Amino acid sequence: MTNTEHGSSNIPQRPIVSQSGVVGEDALHVRLSLQDPELAGLLREEHRRQQDTLDLIAAENHASPAMMEAQGSVLTNKYAEGYPGSRYYAGCGVIDQVEVLACRRACALYGAEHANVQPHSGAQANMAVYSALLQPGDTVMAMRLTHGGHLTHGAPMNFSGHLYKFVSYGVDSQTELLDYDLAEKLAREHKPRLIVAGASSYPRIIDFARFAAISRAVGARLLVDMAHLAGLVAAGVHPSPVPHSDVATSTSHKTLRGPRGGFILCRQELAHAIDAAVFPGIQGGPLMHAIAAKAAAFHEAAQPEFADYQRQVVANARALAAAFLERGIRLVSGGTDNHLVLLDVTTIGITGRQAENALEASGIVANRNVIPFDPNPPQVAGGLRLGTPAVTTRGLKEEEMTHLGGLICRILHSLDDENLRGKVRGEVAALCRRFPIP
Ligand SMILES: *Cc1c(COP(=O)(O)O)cnc(C)c1O
Repeated sequence: MTNTEHGSSNIPQRPIVSQSGVVGEDALHVRLSLQDPELAGLLREEHRRQQDTLDLIAAENHASPAMMEAQGSVLTNKYAEGYPGSRYYAGCGVIDQVEVLACRRACALYGAEHANVQPHSGAQANMAVYSALLQPGDTVMAMRLTHGGHLTHGAPMNFSGHLYKFVSYGVDSQTELLDYDLAEKLAREHKPRLIVAGASSYPRIIDFARFAAISRAVGARLLVDMAHLAGLVAAGVHPSPVPHSDVATSTSHKTLRGPRGGFILCRQELAHAIDAAVFPGIQGGPLMHAIAAKAAAFHEAAQPEFADYQRQVVANARALAAAFLERGIRLVSGGTDNHLVLLDVTTIGITGRQAENALEASGIVANRNVIPFDPNPPQVAGGLRLGTPAVTTRGLKEEEMTHLGGLICRILHSLDDENLRGKVRGEVAALCRRFPIP
């Protein structure tokens, strides 16, 4: 073990001023640097990577330093199996207040009757809901993975696909919009016990009222997985699933801009079943530091500036979409209503993987993604998914998005042009300097 008495000789050798010249990085991880310079060096390196590149991954964001303080707090020391008022450990008086606060804020933010803030992730939240509402072998209807659904919506390699019988709806082959009529037809035919609405790469508004009507018609329960939309919903820029669904699940780290984690909202009549499914059903002790950070995130999301931020997220996605359409790049569904755009890069004669690699070499981080009716396997993919939550947190607006869209098009059209890459890298670095991460 490192002797911190001699810590001063362990101060890391790597330079502490970032490429983007951001001050304050030398104050990062001071104690960790003394005790464990190897790890501290990696954390600083990742901080610099985030500072010096533009993050267009639609599922990512830059959390606030205040929220991260809550996550890095002494709450990580506490075991609190159970729920407020009925724990299996002593010393939970303060912890109880933290969890009650997080639940109260979640309910107020979304107008929900009950919240469970213990799920460790979005996948855990979905697992808990399935185990609360279903028996193994039951039929569930959800969005096809290749049309924008999530692994936990019945992928064969996921627990959901192992345990339940999934039927998939998807998008129309012409419009690439959700095919609600097909969903209704399938629901009438297969009589699912549960219908799941929600997606990871669908660029349009989802009509939760329509899904609710379909669910009612066949006597199914409705789960809305709003993992990608939670921030937009909190700000009122996407319709809320809460009035329409029996249960809503979410992550807290995507558009909501909180800590990595999940949460569940439901009607009071399901509260007991959902809580029991999370603990003791599928989890042990809750991550109380993460729950404190969720409380901080719900608080941030209730401020007027957060609604301004989400409106800008959507405006930025529109500006980005327009930049591609102007240059003849096809977008799945022809545009966007939310925080993401999905490019069909096969029309340029390249693959999603090539696009992802070329952009990363230019300082732009995004991910390849299958598109509806994609003939390519997921590792290759014919699409590129771009989202605006993270760059909007940095302060980029429409003007910068239009410029960035132009840079991305040039890279995609000249994959091997080293000169161009260097030039774009320089422009990205300039943007990063102008708009530092919080
Ligand atoms: C991201 C996502 C999840 C899972 O979240 P994790 O925290 O990564 O487990 C679930 N559902 C949808 C629709 C998602 O986009």
